[in-house]
Amino acid sequence: MITIKSPREIELLRIAGKIVYETHKYLKPYIKEGIKTKELDKLAEDFIRSKGATPSFKGYEGFPTALCVSINSEVVHGFPSDRVLKNGDVVSIDIGACYKGYHGDSGWTYKVGEVSEEVNELLKNTEQALYEGLKQVKPGNRIGDVSNAIETYAKEHKLGVVKELCGHGVGTSVHEDPEVPNFGTKNTGPRLKEGMVIAVEPMLTLGRPDVYVHSNNWTVDTLDGSPSAHFEHTIVVTNDGYEILTGE
Ligand code: MG
Ligand code: MG
Repeated sequence: MITIKSPREIELLRIAGKIVYETHKYLKPYIKEGIKTKELDKLAEDFIRSKGATPSFKGYEGFPTALCVSINSEVVHGFPSDRVLKNGDVVSIDIGACYKGYHGDSGWTYKVGEVSEEVNELLKNTEQALYEGLKQVKPGNRIGDVSNAIETYAKEHKLGVVKELCGHGVGTSVHEDPEVPNFGTKNTGPRLKEGMVIAVEPMLTLGRPDVYVHSNNWTVDTLDGSPSAHFEHTIVVTNDGYEILTGE
C-alpha cells in the first residue's frame, strides 16, 4: 500500500533525512586510506544516536550494523569489518536513521584517494542518473517515468543497470511501497502524488549488470567483478516537483 504522508509526518521525515545527510557530512573526512570500515560504522552509529535517532538498518531483518559499506565491485549491503580502505577504492556508504518512528535513507559512493578515470566517470554518471530520475518526480508522472529516465541515462553512458534491487517508499518503515526500479517503461506504474515519500537509488556498474549474493546472505556483488556505484536520496513529492529530504 502506498501512503500519502501528512504535513506532521513529512516534518518528522525531514528531520530523519537531515540526520542522515549530516551523518554523511560527518563521515566524509574519515573516508580515507587506512581506516577500517568498522571504524566508520562506529562513528556513524554514535553520531546518529547523538542526534536522538537510531540506525535504521541495524537489526533490520537481521542486518548486523548501522552502515552498509560496500567496496569496489560490491554493489550494496556490505558489512563493516576489519577491512581497510586503500587508495583507489570506491566505497558506497548507505545510511538509514529513524527519528520518532520515521526514517531517512541515503547512499553515496565515495572515492578513496585517486581513482581511475573510468571509475571517476562511473561515479559522476551514477550520481547524474539519480538526478535524471528525480527530474521526472512530480504529481501526475508515474514511477515508470523515473525508472525509464535512469535506465536511459545509464545506457547512454554504457553502464550496467542492476535489476535485482530498487528504490522504495520510505515512512514508518525504511522500505515501503512503491518499488522504484532503475529500469522501466514511461507512463507505467503507480502515479506520483503530493505527499508520497520515496528513495530513488540507481545502482550502476562499469561492466555487466549481473550480480550475486555473498555467503553472508546480504552483500550484493557484481558477477564479473566490475566496479559499481550507488547514489540515493529520499525525497517527498511536492505540489510541483520534489524536495530532497537527505540533502542540503
Ligand atoms: Mg534505499
Ligand atoms: Mg539506502
